[in-house]
Amino acid sequence: MPSASIRHQLFIDGSFVNAESGETLATLNPHDNTTIADVALAGKADVDRAVAAATRAFPAWSRMAAADRGRILLKLADLIEANAEELAQLESLDTGHPIRDSRALDVPRTAACFRYFGGMADKFQGETIPVEAGFLNYTLREPVGVVGQIVPWNFPLMFTSWKMAPALAAGNCIVMKPSEITPLSSLRIAELMQEAGLPDGVVNMVPGLGSVVGQYIAEHPGIAKVAFTGSTATGRRVVEASAGNLKKVQLELGGKGPNIVFEDAFLPAAVNGSAWAIFHNQGQACIAGSRLVLHEKIADAFLDKFIPLAQSIRLGNPLDPETEMGPLTSALHRDRVLAYVDVARKQGGEVLVGGKAPGGELARGCYVEPTIVRARSYRDRVAQEEVFGPFVTVLTFKDDAEAMEIANGTDYGLGSGLWTSNLQRAHKMARDLHAGMVWINSYKRVNPGSPFGGVGQSGYGREMGFDAMREYTQVKSVWVNVDAQIPPHFKR
Ligand code: NAD
Repeated sequence: MPSASIRHQLFIDGSFVNAESGETLATLNPHDNTTIADVALAGKADVDRAVAAATRAFPAWSRMAAADRGRILLKLADLIEANAEELAQLESLDTGHPIRDSRALDVPRTAACFRYFGGMADKFQGETIPVEAGFLNYTLREPVGVVGQIVPWNFPLMFTSWKMAPALAAGNCIVMKPSEITPLSSLRIAELMQEAGLPDGVVNMVPGLGSVVGQYIAEHPGIAKVAFTGSTATGRRVVEASAGNLKKVQLELGGKGPNIVFEDAFLPAAVNGSAWAIFHNQGQACIAGSRLVLHEKIADAFLDKFIPLAQSIRLGNPLDPETEMGPLTSALHRDRVLAYVDVARKQGGEVLVGGKAPGGELARGCYVEPTIVRARSYRDRVAQEEVFGPFVTVLTFKDDAEAMEIANGTDYGLGSGLWTSNLQRAHKMARDLHAGMVWINSYKRVNPGSPFGGVGQSGYGREMGFDAMREYTQVKSVWVNVDAQIPPHFKR
């Protein structure tokens, strides 16, 4: 990775600048915990500068022809593709994503998201409403204003696009806080945005600590909306902090995805898909299929194939194209994940495979072996709490009713999957699952056109598709007296 292409300053008003305090924070390579770069650490004064720049940029940006905004996003998508290999390497270096996933998924999905919303910019419109005679009523879909966007470390590149693309297409200006753990790919996107012709101040990036910069963005009176992706506990704090100026709030929070395998499932596909559901990105996905809910008749046959598959996953340096699972993104998080092995055992859970950090070469990094734990009850902590690692909890059921009780037996409601060859059962389950997304005979599909988000403690609001444009606009209703009628009330 050529170090010249690593941006390590804040991006405010179209320039890369140091933090006003001069502070920096090292971002580490999770493969060996070495420093990749010291990145400027934003503080409150930098957020104020960013909000001021975004506020200045808003009138011109929001009134620009929608197609011209779209053109900039389309150009950005092209630039992402032109710089695909560099972005893939940067993402793998900073997050630990296996390079084959960064190349095949993160970078193409990022480009596709900007392209989708680039095309959407001039197609999202208001309506005319058939009201009483003599009047025309229409709605305007107006941008919200300056929006604060807070993203986590698990898919920093992709989430930068999910948050920014619809907001920009709709005409908003942005103050974004990438995670302090993985700021590099977002900062590189800021640079490509400049190259694509984005006017100064429309996007500002302030990597900084969540408790300082994230909290301040959520509180800031100059910010009209805050869109947050992260844990449920932090989401709650964001809601509280946003109350001061009654911000619009959008929350994409945690999950504990049930992945249900029925006795009539096509097992080879279910085994493979279930491994992808939990082990992709080392399980650090809000939509991970982290509860494997198996019909008792096929549980043994399923595990006989699933366990060896998990054991065969190639762990290693994320930059090696052969690697299938990299390290977790930080040492702190690795320790948090491993602590759940004891939690499982204390409640009578059985570790079927994994449950530890690998030794040898990988011991210096943040690695955890693929881990499969059988829990006694769906009420156990490892079946309720988000572990956010390569850690899957196995539960069994005897009939559809019990499968549904287990699946809906958490406070979360984000991703969910089911494997069956029975069409009626599949759609009945899809109807009854307490979830924002259901995958049938598949898991973890995402597309820029398909709404993404959760219910319950997994948050509210939707990213992607037309729903995302609704989130980033507000409706104004305009009434026109087309027949020049005199109002009846005080007619003389
Ligand atoms: P986190 O909540 O600790 O942090 C998320 C972001 O919020 C970071 O940028 C962090 O710096 C910031 N932050 C921390 N404290 C803050 C505060 N008081 N005010 C404002 N911002 C603050 O989460 P994480 O550990 O970075 O990410 C993992 C979590 O994100 C998991 O729970 C996962 O499920 C969730 N997630 C959800 C989705 C989704 O779309 N639903 C997607 C990915 C991740």
